Amino acid sequence: MSVVKHPEQADEGLQKIQWVEKFMPVCRSLETQYSGAKPFQGLTVGMCIHLEAKTARLALLLMRTGANVVITGSNPLSTKDDVAAALARQGAEVFAWYGETPEEYEQNLERVLSFAPDLLLDDGFDLTTMLIEKYAPLAGKLAGVTEETTTGVLRARNMAKAGLLPFPVVAVNDARVKRLFDNRYGTGESTLASFMNTTNLVVAGKVFVVCGYGYVGSGVAKALRALGGRVVVTEVDPIRALEAHADGFEVANMDVACELGEVFVTATGNAGVIRKEHFLKMRDGAILGNAGHFNVEIDVEALESLAVSKREARPSITAYKLSNGKELFLIAEGRLMNLASGLGHPAEIMDLSFATQFLSLLYLKENRGKIEAGVVIPPPEVEEQVARTKLAASGIRIDELTEEQRAYLGRW
Ligand code: NAD
Ligand code: SAH
Repeated sequence: MSVVKHPEQADEGLQKIQWVEKFMPVCRSLETQYSGAKPFQGLTVGMCIHLEAKTARLALLLMRTGANVVITGSNPLSTKDDVAAALARQGAEVFAWYGETPEEYEQNLERVLSFAPDLLLDDGFDLTTMLIEKYAPLAGKLAGVTEETTTGVLRARNMAKAGLLPFPVVAVNDARVKRLFDNRYGTGESTLASFMNTTNLVVAGKVFVVCGYGYVGSGVAKALRALGGRVVVTEVDPIRALEAHADGFEVANMDVACELGEVFVTATGNAGVIRKEHFLKMRDGAILGNAGHFNVEIDVEALESLAVSKREARPSITAYKLSNGKELFLIAEGRLMNLASGLGHPAEIMDLSFATQFLSLLYLKENRGKIEAGVVIPPPEVEEQVARTKLAASGIRIDELTEEQRAYLGRW
């Protein structure tokens, strides 16, 4: 039995799902292709991922192709209660609501695992880690896991290195058709939208410090610049720092950048990127948000310990008064701002990520027992199908290699 907070909001949730469905042609094409054969018939897919409209669309695709879906959110602040209600009404087992406590978050992961899933779809690897550490016997039934994001893939690889991963994990994040668009353009646009909607402040002319210039950070930096934001980048990787420099951004270390920024956005997947010594040097009114992973990129505990008082400044913004008299503003408790205070990536972007998820789950199901335990990237034909379907839906035609070209490229 699902546990959602506002079952009465199901109609509103359904309307949101129907809206995004229209703009997710690759998922629609997969539904047309597989809803007759129902390849997931009789299988339970356990999902832990931001529960909002685009995710609900993926869950419905899995259900319409035969799966039983059991789902919780991957972040205590990203669940949209109306969407959760709609999905529960459509027949999924849903255990998620906005504002879960850490205990409720864990309990909901446990509820998903209590269905003994055949496949897991994870975003950040919390669900899989719990299965391995607490419910190891369930691994025997599992065909494998698909992992959505950079940090989850990193955790999976670390576990595999330690010899602790007993099944295959498909690194959906590492598909080019995922990270080139989702991590870069998706996070760029949704972080910008979150900043604008959460703060109601101007971007043009403002100094933003973007920490990390990987797929996410470079997308965020470019989206901010597109609206006239003045961006300073911090990095630890010399090549990515040079890339940011060549892309025309100012590059500085955090010690310097912390005094320059009016707004700070972390995008590293790391911990303690903005720390006590940085908070103390920031200007009065500086705004802090995270577009990376867990709520540890900005050291929220240190900020709490420095504060003499705190208050809610606006919905999703906490003001911290420091003993030096300055006030700093933190968006969404330091959790990823584009989802905890925003709607996440746009539908057209999640269409690519979620079509890759669907085909990766199918790959695991069809090759059950044949793929070695460890982290694998999605097969090239998965990426190719997703990209070609999207191009066709966009009315874009591309060239094919001629026989002569193929032969030319095969020479030495
Ligand atoms: P990435 O590896 O491409 O980039 C991370 C960058 O951060 C690297 O260049 C690294 O050198 C840099 N970095 C690490 N520690 C740093 C530090 N202390 N200071 C400055 N830079 C530092 O990874 P990515 O794909 O860009 O993902 C980054 C994070 O964003 C991950 O945690 C990922 O899971 C998350 N993510 C979030 C969203 C979202 O919707 N908000 C979307 C996709 C990925
Ligand atoms: N457990 C983490 C999750 C990392 S989120 C946490 O602390 O919140 C990063 C992932 O969110 C990205 O890889 C992206 O694919 C996904 N995402 C972004 N927008 C989304 C959306 N609208 N719906 C579902 N997932 C989304």
